[in-house]
Amino acid sequence: MEFCTAVNCMDGRVQIPVISYLTERFKVDFVDVVSEAGPNRILADGLDDQLLESIWTRVEISISQHDSKGVAVIGHHDCAGNPVGESEQRLHIAAAVRRVRDRFASVPVIGLWVDHNWEVSELPLE
Ligand SMILES: [Zn+2]
Repeated sequence: MEFCTAVNCMDGRVQIPVISYLTERFKVDFVDVVSEAGPNRILADGLDDQLLESIWTRVEISISQHDSKGVAVIGHHDCAGNPVGESEQRLHIAAAVRRVRDRFASVPVIGLWVDHNWEVSELPLE
């Protein structure tokens, strides 16, 4: 059994699209989900230490106990936890990916955008 990790929004509409995308993307059987409201904004801002520690603890378990093949940070259309437009959310996703990469250098980290049709696309990142 192989795993990857999603730092996804709690929004019910994005769960299945993101899990489907990531099982294909990382060729894994299961996706461990770290669920927050607007996680791209939380990780981009980096202001809430308690929330950050909670996210890091859960991602760390997925990496160390499940040998996660990769981590994705998600942003999506009509997000109640991060109610700004797509262009700003994409900046948040990119910043969030950088923060996760700084923390967990051993695994690939990608950013995903889920659009108004609930279709998932991967952000082109450096
Ligand atoms: Zn959301």
